[in-house]
Amino acid sequence: MPELPEVETVKRVLEPQLSGRKILSAEIRRPQIVPHPDAASLCESVIGHTVVGMGRRGKFIETIMDDGSVMVVHLRMTGQLYVAPLTFPEEKHTHAVFRLDDEKELRFVDQRRFGRIWLIAHGEEDDFTGIGDLGPEPNDPAMNAEYLKATVGRRSTAIKTCLLDQSVVAGIGNIYSDEILFVAGISPERPSDSLSTGEWNRLAKAIPERLEFFTEKNAITAEDYLEGRGTDYRNTPFLNVYGCEGEPCRKCGRLIERTVINGRSAHFCPKCQK
Ligand SMILES: [Zn+2]
Repeated sequence: MPELPEVETVKRVLEPQLSGRKILSAEIRRPQIVPHPDAASLCESVIGHTVVGMGRRGKFIETIMDDGSVMVVHLRMTGQLYVAPLTFPEEKHTHAVFRLDDEKELRFVDQRRFGRIWLIAHGEEDDFTGIGDLGPEPNDPAMNAEYLKATVGRRSTAIKTCLLDQSVVAGIGNIYSDEILFVAGISPERPSDSLSTGEWNRLAKAIPERLEFFTEKNAITAEDYLEGRGTDYRNTPFLNVYGCEGEPCRKCGRLIERTVINGRSAHFCPKCQK
């Protein structure tokens, strides 16, 4: 599943291609992907309007329209969102197509069909997407050691599980929770209420640092992004522990181990992470 660095990458690739573009027509072929308002209303609302910018909150991509409405996309497991020339062959499972005024289309493709598109009207309360329940962004100054300790410091849950909780910090998933805990030197299995002040400090520092690092490493040209159909945007050679089970730790040489915590895989170095 794409996490913050991947979703930010999608946003950064799409923003220059969509900003200033007028939507000439819109087609939602699987109405179920639009939980709000509904597929027909969404199409009707965006046609004739121009994209003025894009944003991101957690793993949600926001496309801001000139009437103040916001089209929100969550890619979930397998969603793909990309701009393609009209002549570019269409993929199977293309569920939504937005025709732009430059002979291109914004396409939403999703094999597993879990991805969603919402439209929040200007001034409308967003009770639909879940964005309102998100914790702070990792680079928000409010996301600091004191905040983390106050929010999850009394939970006996594994710290990895707390990092996956989108209401604690927005945007972290299975891969980057492992990477963050490796850099912070904390075992993913540690109960949150056992962390020391020094560990909260290291964790609060590692969260924005790792996500920013991987966002930068993911940087991709619009051409390469289209070539990969909006899927090939994760820079795996820089992962220290995730998917590295049985490989030597890059810091100490001990073999990276894998375990399962609350149903999610966790990768860690038994020596570097206490
Ligand atoms: Zn190590």
